[in-house]
Amino acid sequence: MTEAVLAIEPEISEATLTVLKRRYLQKDKRGRVVETPGQMFMRVASYIAAAEKAHGNDPGVYRDLFYGIMARLEFLPNSPTLMNAGTDLGQLAACFVLPVEDSISGIFETVKNAALIHKSGGGTGFSFSRLRPKDSRVGSTGGVASGPVSFMKIFNVATEQVKQGGTRRGANMAVLRVDHPDIMEFILCKQASADLNNFNISVGVTDEFMVKARTGLPYNLVDPRDGRVVGTLNATDVFEAMVKQAWHNGDPGIIFLDRINQDNPTPLLGEIESTNPCGEQPLLPMEACNLGSVNLAKFVVEKKGKPTIDYASLGKTIALAVRFLDDTIDRSIYPLDEITAMVRGNRKIGLGVMGFADLLFALELPYNSDRAVALAEEVMAFVQSEARKASRALAQERGVFENFDKSVFRNDKDRRFRNATVTTIAPTGTLSIIAGSSSGIEPLFALSFIRTIMDNETFLEVNPHFMAVAQAQGFYSEALMEKIAKTGTIKGMTEIPESVRKVFVTAHDVSPAWHVKMQAAFQKHTDNAVSKTVNLPRDATEHDVAEIYTSAFDFGCKGVTIYRDGSKANQVLSISGAT
Ligand code: UDP
Repeated sequence: MTEAVLAIEPEISEATLTVLKRRYLQKDKRGRVVETPGQMFMRVASYIAAAEKAHGNDPGVYRDLFYGIMARLEFLPNSPTLMNAGTDLGQLAACFVLPVEDSISGIFETVKNAALIHKSGGGTGFSFSRLRPKDSRVGSTGGVASGPVSFMKIFNVATEQVKQGGTRRGANMAVLRVDHPDIMEFILCKQASADLNNFNISVGVTDEFMVKARTGLPYNLVDPRDGRVVGTLNATDVFEAMVKQAWHNGDPGIIFLDRINQDNPTPLLGEIESTNPCGEQPLLPMEACNLGSVNLAKFVVEKKGKPTIDYASLGKTIALAVRFLDDTIDRSIYPLDEITAMVRGNRKIGLGVMGFADLLFALELPYNSDRAVALAEEVMAFVQSEARKASRALAQERGVFENFDKSVFRNDKDRRFRNATVTTIAPTGTLSIIAGSSSGIEPLFALSFIRTIMDNETFLEVNPHFMAVAQAQGFYSEALMEKIAKTGTIKGMTEIPESVRKVFVTAHDVSPAWHVKMQAAFQKHTDNAVSKTVNLPRDATEHDVAEIYTSAFDFGCKGVTIYRDGSKANQVLSISGAT
């Protein structure tokens, strides 16, 4: 290992160290932390780089390169990789989708597999659409079936128990197709029952449904066992019920199944029916995906006295990140042989970005502006094209993914990829804390706020970019920072220069329309999907939610999630005094 590599020690704050100590840094048998953040990155780098040996490369070279991009906080792989690389668990992916078959043994097999995945820090998504509707006959017993929602409760209890001993809270996504006969019970299920707190739920809608919802037309409900039409519902009524519930407490979200399947790279292997828990990763049943994110805030340089993006350096980091994620596939131990086969067959990876709001601050662009949306497209088009370039280069070195001949790329000489997909925008909930950046592509929640970490520890944080500008322009004072912490926004604070107020916007200053535009801009250049929450003020209306759903559909998003301030009892982020 070179001196230069060892000299890079990650800059980690107190709050971050707390997070790392709880779940990420290795502990001895007595529970004492035995690793520094730098040693954690070295453990991960050397474990992943060992995959290079099989391709005739020197693992030591890549270990140092991988260490460098992580220790400089330019790139981080998803949490399970940081937690489990080089440990007995060895499961490195954040996202899984498991099939739920219409049989008791199939359902309970999946409960078991989900528990194993949760234990390793992975999240699971399921489509419950194949389960027979409530009150259908059960052939072998002569009884009646209890339907998808009742089985979801079993998954929920299992998740709750595994949570105690696992690496982190297990997260689940349940999808039900809008034409399933139990759809209304599903839409209302989280309000009706507190037993589903470990689930995000999403209604899987078709293009046909969205068109009918605009005009109040009926659509068919179908028995998933034989495709028989068993009833009809009015599309507008169902759409309005979804909107009402989402307004009430954030669930259900909506996913656009036809749009998702347009981008399915391997339709011959099956249809995509679900996503992972936070919605950014559509997957086939039994498929998993490793995510990773580049921290855009780290790629700003001064050029002729003006802050600009250092694309040359970003490009190099992207190429290394793609190699890292491809190596991760070979180094990860998956809980089931079927998952290993599926993951190695398609080799999907999901490289995305974090620190986008920080980047906008550095470039002095308001999040809610056409220039910011144009920048989003420019940056993500770059990430996508560099990631594809890197995946093509890996294919030349190592071969295309095993299922390439069954993929949509099979007759395309220019798209001989190593990976069936290369890009995904993750929420980066924990990664952004480690990197000290704004999360994913979200606007800052607040310029100063109380952060609750791992369920109970709280920290007051002031955004470093804002702090720097406040000090440079001479309006910094502790009293002002405290005042901002109470409201989260500087809108209307005349003691702050207008030019600063314009740039330093936060989630609630950004209207829903801009949130959706931004999501769509990133989606345009992302193979998988984009994690984004459209934040709404407390007094937003159901009509606002309906507008968001229809515009997300019109703009080509793959789904959308809304959150109205104060609509859930346990908000992860809160503005002090406001909740
Ligand atoms: N995830 C999970 N439990 C959690 C947080 C995340 O299972 O408590 C999974 C889930 O599939 C989610 C994905 O990890 O969609 C990525 O989330 P995020 O980017 O926030 O994770 P990070 O890598 O930052 O921890």
